[in-house]
Amino acid sequence: MPELPEVETVRRGLAPVFEGATFTRVDQRRADLRLPFPQDFAKRLIGRRVLKLRRRAKYLIAELDDGEALVMHLGMSGSFRIDKGASLANTHIAKGQNPAHDHVVFHFDNGASVTYNDPRRFGCMLLLHSNEIEKHPLFEGLGIEPLGNEMNAQKLADELHGRKTSLKAALLDQGNIAGLGNIYVCEALHRAGLSPFRAAGSVVDVSGKPMPTLERLARAIKDVLREAIEAGGSSLRDHRQTDGSLGYFQHNFRVYDREGEPCPTKDCKGVVARKMQNGRSTFYCPVCQK
Ligand SMILES: [Zn+2]
Repeated sequence: MPELPEVETVRRGLAPVFEGATFTRVDQRRADLRLPFPQDFAKRLIGRRVLKLRRRAKYLIAELDDGEALVMHLGMSGSFRIDKGASLANTHIAKGQNPAHDHVVFHFDNGASVTYNDPRRFGCMLLLHSNEIEKHPLFEGLGIEPLGNEMNAQKLADELHGRKTSLKAALLDQGNIAGLGNIYVCEALHRAGLSPFRAAGSVVDVSGKPMPTLERLARAIKDVLREAIEAGGSSLRDHRQTDGSLGYFQHNFRVYDREGEPCPTKDCKGVVARKMQNGRSTFYCPVCQK
């Protein structure tokens, strides 16, 4: 499943094609993905120009010149492939992509086309009025953007104050922070030296101010996401040279999926452990994460 850094990488890859371009044709090859496509989906897009491609949580939002927005989610297995006009007229199929799973193709007046491939079809595409997005059931109640300006230790303290649930569960709660998934929560907690099992409220003092542990955690969350996006950026450059596909990249994690390996923290003699927590695997170091 693409996590936030992958979605942001996809956004950065698609933005140069989408922004400023007008839809000239849209091939819609089925009636639904996880949700039905909007009524007259293709027809409503044709002639519309994309003003901006932004991201909210794990949604890509193409703001259109008529006040609507094309909202796209990659689900579990979605990816986009860019074909840039005549030089790539012989549409290549990205490795491992079955053209039977190409469900939508956007054609633009700049000569490029963008194909959405999704074998498991958990993705979705919607057309919403821009000013109604935040009120839509998919967006309502989403918490702060972990990379947004509003994200800081005090904001997190407001969310976590007095909470008895585990710190990890609170960080995975999309109503607190939007778009943060299991992998990056494990990574951020390790980097901040905090146990996933401690109470969420334990990083906030009685007056509701963030403790130094929470300052550290807020920084760690931003750092792990930014580093992954940078790694995604380099994979993007590689992809552009090869098959134009966007969606997934390899990234080296410090604890995620590294059960039994030595803890990478300097001078720590611990071994990465795995424990089931709220139905998900938690990877952590029992020695340096307190
Ligand atoms: Zn350790």
